Amino acid sequence: MWNKNPNPIIIMKLTTLITGAALALGTTAAAQVFSSEPPTHEFNYVNDRFADIEVLRYKVPGFEDLTLNQKQLVYYLTEAAIWGRDILWDQNCKYNLPIRYMLEDVYENYKGDRTLDPQYKAFETYLKQLWFANGIHHHYSTDKFVPAFSREFLQAELAKLPADARWRPMEAELLEVIFNPAVYAKRVNQAEGQDLILTSANNMYEGVTQKEVEDFYANKKNPDDATPISYGLNARVTKDKDGKVVEQVYRLGGYYSDAIAHIIENLEKAMQFAENETQRATIAKLVEYYRTGDLKTFDDYSISWVEDTASQVDFINGFIESYGDPLGMTGSWESIVNFKNIPASHRTEVLSSEAQWFENNSPVDPRFRKEAVKGVSAKVITAAILAGDAYPATPIGINLPNANWIRAAHGSKSVTIENITQAYDEASHGNGFNEEFVIDKPTCELLDKYLFITDNLHTDLHECLGHGSGRLLPGVDPDALKAHGSTLEEARADLFALYYLGDPKMVEMGLLDNPDAYKAEYYKYILNGLMTQLMRIEPGKDVEEAHMRNRKLIAEWVYEKGHADNVVELVKRDGKTYVKINDYRKLRELFGQLLGEVQRIKSEGDYEAGAALVEAYGVKVDPAVHKEVLDRYAHLDIAPYRGFVNPTYRQVRNGNGEVVDVEIEYNEDYIPQMLRYGKHYNGLK
Ligand code: ZN
Repeated sequence: MWNKNPNPIIIMKLTTLITGAALALGTTAAAQVFSSEPPTHEFNYVNDRFADIEVLRYKVPGFEDLTLNQKQLVYYLTEAAIWGRDILWDQNCKYNLPIRYMLEDVYENYKGDRTLDPQYKAFETYLKQLWFANGIHHHYSTDKFVPAFSREFLQAELAKLPADARWRPMEAELLEVIFNPAVYAKRVNQAEGQDLILTSANNMYEGVTQKEVEDFYANKKNPDDATPISYGLNARVTKDKDGKVVEQVYRLGGYYSDAIAHIIENLEKAMQFAENETQRATIAKLVEYYRTGDLKTFDDYSISWVEDTASQVDFINGFIESYGDPLGMTGSWESIVNFKNIPASHRTEVLSSEAQWFENNSPVDPRFRKEAVKGVSAKVITAAILAGDAYPATPIGINLPNANWIRAAHGSKSVTIENITQAYDEASHGNGFNEEFVIDKPTCELLDKYLFITDNLHTDLHECLGHGSGRLLPGVDPDALKAHGSTLEEARADLFALYYLGDPKMVEMGLLDNPDAYKAEYYKYILNGLMTQLMRIEPGKDVEEAHMRNRKLIAEWVYEKGHADNVVELVKRDGKTYVKINDYRKLRELFGQLLGEVQRIKSEGDYEAGAALVEAYGVKVDPAVHKEVLDRYAHLDIAPYRGFVNPTYRQVRNGNGEVVDVEIEYNEDYIPQMLRYGKHYNGLK
């Protein structure tokens, strides 16, 4: 599963559009815990901006410190990653690759004025959108892009190109797909009541109906199988010449064979540099799976992968997430190569090791505490390459494998990709958000300095301790809170995190170096909950998503309960509303009180009280505040979607041709990278 905020505007778990720079800590203990590099504003995080997209660059801190073996391992894994790119393009729609070939030819041969001709400029924007979406459909909405240039413009440019261009035989068809809005309109259609296969433009099915696909897999499945394979994960479904429904399996010698051959070649090279036997065996299993297409082998690989916790370098490579299939079976090809950020992972290990202390001191009725609590140790990683469905738009966290029985029997790996969140954070710096919504300069400075760290720590506390804390009273149904269960569960984890973020224990443990640092997260949390998250809601609508309801519930509740003491104030200035926090210690006490109540509701299964809490504070939007937030946000011109260009890796050889180092460079821009990948890694010629 991807931890990717369901809303495109906000990429991190909260409104991290209000983001500060990562902070340069002094030589305190915290400096060892936070490996985040000090802000280096010379590094140009923003690389391109077009349509609704901002393309960023990310750093790979720590790459230079890896051993030569590890660097070689990363090098070949990144090659294996980029070689899968065209598989994804073809999975997304069967016309994507020929359209890309055609448009890239036009791009490279264009002789007019690239800065003046509005038709050309619209064409370039369209091509950039295609590159970003890995095809002709928007990566998030999955709607087909509407070109803002004319068919005549494109035809005139095509006429200038060689008669034997590889897309030439399909030219008329491709023009129709680009310009006729009715054909292949949506990549993944989820609309109730329609045939989801026939109405989706992806290429995971061909010439079959939804009913035929469902029957096909229903016949294969055995309901008594406790360890089922992931049916359909690596196959295109179509009909053979006799009209029988069949799978075309993605494997060497099967569908996508040419690209898979390149992936295998690089995985086999990577294997020579594996850090240990477990990792070598894991890569070998993956190669075997690519050779055979056997999903049982894929499960063996997944188990081996999840059990390899010793290696620093790690990777995902394959048909993994099924968001691109309206039936949720076929995996879209993706790869992320990464290595463990050891100092940052230490942070979650420290928290987990003190899990019992946190439980014993939590502000809830002792009857609702766990006697023996175990923290979850999530790993913090540094991405070295993003590829396939994780490129250019990428998740910030991943939890795999997806097979439920493997998760239950062998566990899962949960990771946060901190160099990506840091790039988002740095790039948001100076986008005007803080200046617009934060009450004053000192508060802006507080956020600049401490928000990145406290936001990460909030996530750690929420994930490693919050969800795992507390217990149900005997006999209480875990589903007693029904539809409000997930909102209240998120509230419980958030409140646990907020309460402890302001605890002196954070400084004692060396996780923060300033007893006031927590105020940055508190301010942002309240601002987000009371106001800024509303920019994600359409006018007239209620708040529906569980995480958003939870944040609104918490912010509105403490605002109301602290009213008599003026803990949180809404200040009007020049017709604009600002959040002002007058008493952070009291605010922390209120978080503790609400945690006590939400834990009681959960432990006792008190549905009535839970529903009342959610409905009173978490759902209804004040239309005046909502309108104000939307208006103010609209003036900021912040791109709703963001993604990344990759760094490049280069093997350095000595006079004998031996590799003596792998160098990382950050000098390739968006367009050159897309053109290079398209040419060099054209795996499905
Ligand atoms: Zn959660």
